[in-house]
Amino acid sequence: MKVYRDHRCGRQHRAWPALARCIFRGAGWIAGDGPFAVVSGCGVTSVTLHHDAATAARSLATIDATGCGGRCVRHHDLVRLDLDDGTAHEMCEGVA
Ligand SMILES: [Zn+2]
Ligand SMILES: [Zn+2]
Repeated sequence: MKVYRDHRCGRQHRAWPALARCIFRGAGWIAGDGPFAVVSGCGVTSVTLHHDAATAARSLATIDATGCGGRCVRHHDLVRLDLDDGTAHEMCEGVA
């Protein structure tokens, strides 16, 4: 799985949605919370965040099978985000 940790600002993001908004600056919408991001690049980029890899993989399988929306070209990806700060990882482990 690809890991995205590079973002263009100097801040230390402490929340996954904030980091995702920073990494995927052109995204039409970003939903959910967590380090696993299902990214759909069909037309407008959309990102759905998940706390655990299994849920994210199911979500990816669903949009692969049914399409993510109007102009789906099956341009979907599952990546993991990595915050600079380690604390949020610990927060997430209890949720999964
Ligand atoms: Zn940033
Ligand atoms: Zn699609």
